[in-house]
Amino acid sequence: MSKNGFDDYGFDTRAVRAGQTRTAEGEQDEPIFPTVSFVAQSAAQAAARFSGAEHGNIYSRFTNPTVRTFEQRLASLEGGERCVATASGMAAILTTCMGLLKSGDHILASRSIFGPTVILLSNILARFGVQTTFVPLTDLDAWERAIQPSTRLLFLETPSNPLSEIADIKALSDIAHRHGCLLVVDNCFLTPALQQPLKLGADIVVHSASKYIDGQGRAVGGAVVGSEKLVGGDIYNFLRTAGPSMSPFNAWIYLKGLETLRLRMEAHGRNALMLATWLEQQPAVARVHYPGLTSHPQHALAARQQSGYGGVLAFEVKGGREAAWKVIDATRIISITATFGDTKSTITHPATTTHWRLTPEARLEAGITDGLIRIGVGLEDIEDLKNDLARGLDACRL
Ligand SMILES: *Cc1c(COP(=O)(O)O)cnc(C)c1O
Repeated sequence: MSKNGFDDYGFDTRAVRAGQTRTAEGEQDEPIFPTVSFVAQSAAQAAARFSGAEHGNIYSRFTNPTVRTFEQRLASLEGGERCVATASGMAAILTTCMGLLKSGDHILASRSIFGPTVILLSNILARFGVQTTFVPLTDLDAWERAIQPSTRLLFLETPSNPLSEIADIKALSDIAHRHGCLLVVDNCFLTPALQQPLKLGADIVVHSASKYIDGQGRAVGGAVVGSEKLVGGDIYNFLRTAGPSMSPFNAWIYLKGLETLRLRMEAHGRNALMLATWLEQQPAVARVHYPGLTSHPQHALAARQQSGYGGVLAFEVKGGREAAWKVIDATRIISITATFGDTKSTITHPATTTHWRLTPEARLEAGITDGLIRIGVGLEDIEDLKNDLARGLDACRL
């Protein structure tokens, strides 16, 4: 449904071409437009632009050519009519909520979502009269039962972090629409290269561009994609007024990231599957969570709805927190940091970092055991990654 003239081209062509309009300089690649404001040719044109009678740039909080090129390219890849780029992934979620909700509205969210998103919904939005209920991601009946007359949005991430549970996007979009709600999917883990939620019935996709869209860990940013009516209407109006806009410098980085996105996602997925398969054979490992493994309880759903399995996996070592920390501390190349989506592999202990705020009971209910380790598998040589983990895993068995 995108409208920028690239609908007839394949994904890879759109990834390198969509959204580009050359200036009179004839540049091959996309320029950066570092300008706060834009000049009108007459008072009448300025008036026409402010009233909306004429399309054109006014001010970079509203629109900027480099940012717009990124927005059109990402919209095209997600199969959406419209995208607005934001200052961060969290700003994308905030902008979506502030654009679409009012006091008294209710959000139904997956229990397995990014920690700051939980805080945004349950602490910050609650202060403005928007309530959120959390439900288990994979329990369709629980979602339907929890819908209230005031429910406006269903919100989820799939695969979930860190356990890679898979939501049935089509089934949940049917439930949402049957009750007059919108389905919002955070598509950070797979990106449009591997999963296109709008085509499965979702109404809005949100992104942290800081992860795989950048792909090399350089800049924090985000985006919202969906229909012209939703995203070009209330969501864009919130952004242009409240101002969580993307910088043109960052948009330029993400444009270049999109050009290699599919190649990188395939390479991340290849490394992750090899590492997951190897981890399953290690005596010190009790369980591996990766949707590409046939042992994953929702492998069939993942195979149906995704065109790849992504670069994030988690595994449980025998011996709890002590053993997990031993494995993490024995690494020499994998970075101890909570992000993912970088060429450099990352390792983290969810129970004491990203999920430390939860009570021990809530953590266990969410499946975050003390022995759980998450890896954002990067693009290093797979043998080096195995060796980096084998050192600690072997020490656990002594
Ligand atoms: C990182 C992340 C976010 C937030 O993105 P920022 O760019 O850090 O604000 C949101 N959702 C998911 C799934 C993430 O991994």
